[in-house]
Amino acid sequence: MDNPLRVMVTGGAGFLGSHLCDRLLAAGHDVLCVDNFYTSTRRNIVHLLEHPNFELMRHDVTFPLYVEVDRIYNLACPASPIHYQRDPVQTTKTSVHGAINMLGLAKRTGARILQASTSEVYGDPDVHPQPESYWGHVNPVGPRGVYDEAKRFGEALSMAYHHAHDVDVKIARLFNTFGPFLRPADGRAIPNFLVQAMDGKPLTVYGDGSQTRSFCYVDDEVRGILALLESEWVGPMNLGNPDEFTILELAHLVLETTGSSSKIEFEPLPTDDPVQRRPDISLAESVLGWRPEIDLSEGLSRTYE
Ligand code: NAD
Ligand code: UDP
Repeated sequence: MDNPLRVMVTGGAGFLGSHLCDRLLAAGHDVLCVDNFYTSTRRNIVHLLEHPNFELMRHDVTFPLYVEVDRIYNLACPASPIHYQRDPVQTTKTSVHGAINMLGLAKRTGARILQASTSEVYGDPDVHPQPESYWGHVNPVGPRGVYDEAKRFGEALSMAYHHAHDVDVKIARLFNTFGPFLRPADGRAIPNFLVQAMDGKPLTVYGDGSQTRSFCYVDDEVRGILALLESEWVGPMNLGNPDEFTILELAHLVLETTGSSSKIEFEPLPTDDPVQRRPDISLAESVLGWRPEIDLSEGLSRTYE
């Protein structure tokens, strides 16, 4: 590449971040992976450590960082409910101070920045499917509030930096994403079910399993994230797969994919667990020409392998 960019990925050792690092290196860019290994290890990026264009920095984004970069993907934040609820104060610090520090870095360097937001900004939505214009239905004081509200703050702050300081910001509202490199102990539905099925243990469906989610395969999600950062769009954009499944349907699909004879066990539904979730992706389709290509069944097979 004639003009490789200096690209920083915070949370670069995590599930999504490591896939993003792979893709950026393959495109010929210099990649600075910043991570404090709060929910990850070097395992996801060990294959990149000898790459001449890859640099790993152990750093906590709640502290300022002075580096020279052209692009910032701010992904650092625990994403699985069990992880972001383990130390709820640290979760808010990571999202809030992390956003302040990364947006400040973007302001100083003139770097374009993508803030990883989430479908959780819609909370337990009473509009379905969720368009970007929907403001959401979040319980600020429930156990998910630390994640949801801090991500909402990240969006507000991104727009403030854009309006007040002309920072080139992109806000990606990511919906449930899955694929290889999700840790077996991640705690989210797909890794839980896959590991349980492979170990011949019961699949733990919370509630009656009628709640829905829309699962996007990681290659599709990363393609959308890359396209969004390079677009001229300002403001939030949904990136997710609009195919909607109940969690019980997901459990059966995992059993089918793995050929497992595990049983399904019902456990209590966690507090404030959203009843339904499906992205309206018409904005991403019209602005980026993006839509997911890999369906849940195909994605599960690839992840299982
Ligand atoms: P992950 O837990 O696998 O990765 C997060 C990474 O951030 C980890 O490597 C972790 O060690 C790092 N990190 C956490 N706190 C940090 C800190 N203070 N300083 C530096 N690094 C820190 O999660 P993921 O699924 O890869 O999610 C990545 C981002 O995407 C998160 O911001 C998450 O909120 C967002 N997101 C993910 C999904 C999804 O389904 N995967 C959905 C919506 C939003
Ligand atoms: N879930 C489940 N069993 C599990 C893990 C999760 O039934 O072992 C449910 C969870 O209650 C939620 C859905 O699956 O309704 C998706 O959960 P996940 O943690 O993957 O994502 P999120 O709730 O953040 O969308």
